Amino acid sequence: MTAEAGGVSGAGGRRGPAGGDGRGASSSYEPVIGLEIHVQLATRTKMFCADRAEYGGEPNTRVCPVCLGLPGALPVVNGVAVELAIRAALGLGCTVHETSVFARKNYFYPDLPKGYQITQYDRPLATDGALAVGTGPDAARVRIQRVHLEEDTGRSMHDRFPDRTAIDLNRAGVPLIEIVTRPDLAGPAAARAFLTGLKRRLEYLAVSDCDMEKGSLRVDANVSVRPRGSGALGTKTEIKNLNSFANVERALAFEADRQAEVLAGGGRVVHETRLWDADAGVTRVMRSKEEARDYRYFPEPDLPPLVVAPEVVARVEAGLPELPEARARRLRDEHGLPDYDAGVLTATRELADYYEAVAAAAGDAKAASNWVMGPVLAWLNERQAAPGRFPVPPAALAGLIGLAADGTLSSSAARTVFDRMAETGRPAAEIVEAEGLAQVRDEGRLEAWVREALAAHPEEAAKLRDGATQLVGFFVGAVMKASGGAADPRRTRDLLEAEAERG
Ligand code: ADP
Ligand code: MG
Repeated sequence: MTAEAGGVSGAGGRRGPAGGDGRGASSSYEPVIGLEIHVQLATRTKMFCADRAEYGGEPNTRVCPVCLGLPGALPVVNGVAVELAIRAALGLGCTVHETSVFARKNYFYPDLPKGYQITQYDRPLATDGALAVGTGPDAARVRIQRVHLEEDTGRSMHDRFPDRTAIDLNRAGVPLIEIVTRPDLAGPAAARAFLTGLKRRLEYLAVSDCDMEKGSLRVDANVSVRPRGSGALGTKTEIKNLNSFANVERALAFEADRQAEVLAGGGRVVHETRLWDADAGVTRVMRSKEEARDYRYFPEPDLPPLVVAPEVVARVEAGLPELPEARARRLRDEHGLPDYDAGVLTATRELADYYEAVAAAAGDAKAASNWVMGPVLAWLNERQAAPGRFPVPPAALAGLIGLAADGTLSSSAARTVFDRMAETGRPAAEIVEAEGLAQVRDEGRLEAWVREALAAHPEEAAKLRDGATQLVGFFVGAVMKASGGAADPRRTRDLLEAEAERG
């Protein structure tokens, strides 16, 4: 079960480990990767109390006796968080268990006010799902070991004050799910592809905003290497401090090379947690790996077992949205779009919704796809913006598509109108009218521009009249220029061809 045929390969610009290029060693070893992904659930309030769960805010203002763990305060489970977690689990093909159990994971850290984190341990909410990654020969099914509910910790801020670390407990108690994969990923690139697919899936399920910058999606990556072709698992390390999918890929490539180098040199890989240093492009030891017994997990005495009735699971399942792969298939089959277009347009649910609304209003799926994949995505990419920020409503874009299709607008004028619509939010017809952008099809005016173009290029004009029809394109260009893009190019071409024939 491999997601990638190659071994330690992947990220462009990857570096070998310090002290060697790693290539010699890595070619005889293959990496094995498993991921642990923490996802913040899109609830209004925290996991076990009524404080707001929203990102940010004045530090330490969204706290109460429950999330601070003051004596006597009792946690109460957030039903919305449970429902979102069930949704995520079902959307990842997991079995949701009727009874799961909250546990205390005990450790000491300044951002953990209670001295323990409420999580789920030996009886998680859901287990045994899968997510397919890639298509064709590279396709792989990555097994999801478990999805469990837990609360987030506070945040340590090391850059707020010189020489001091500040603690913000607003995040303490925010609901999370942890998604754990089996070690089914066979390379750094496959790990990245999996994460991209997972993020898309979670966004479709609307369980989280999945914003890595705000920490709504956090990845820890586990990797080991083994002699190529061996079935056994080697000793793994866990990498933390991965703030983008690109860094996950780079860090894994580095770490797999490093381990291969250690083994090739006759050494042993140490079971430890390492931190990715993106600037230096290396992983460094953070701490030796703690074992489960160090956490003294035990069932949370203040919460009863979490019971999810089968009817609840059935209701959540019935309410699952169309998932991205199914939607891409439908766009391909119903709208006749190429696989590539269908893939791009379903990258997010918002974009797919937008596209489908444009296609329906325009009555032309392919034209809608060209506009959305071209100028609309360019606009969004330039601003690094989500589709929701695009200011032109679907029906308005469809209006523009109509004006381009019926010949009122040349393709260049249509682009101009598009830019104005995005700037001003005014409808296409109004902009065309106000700026005189409609294509000129009036014979008299077209002839005047043609005469002007011929007069400006007397040598070429003589050749054209001698029958050099290959110059027609040149003069169409000249007329388009002279008319500021307003001339109807088809009619202009007809006039110029007539000129060439007439001699
Ligand atoms: P730990 O006990 O260290 O927490 P787990 O068995 O709970 O380890 O697995 C944690 C993550 O590490 C999972 O995503 C799993 O797929 C991955 N993993 C486990 N063993 C290996 C290994 N030998 N190589 C790579 N990844 C592994
Ligand atoms: Mg574990």
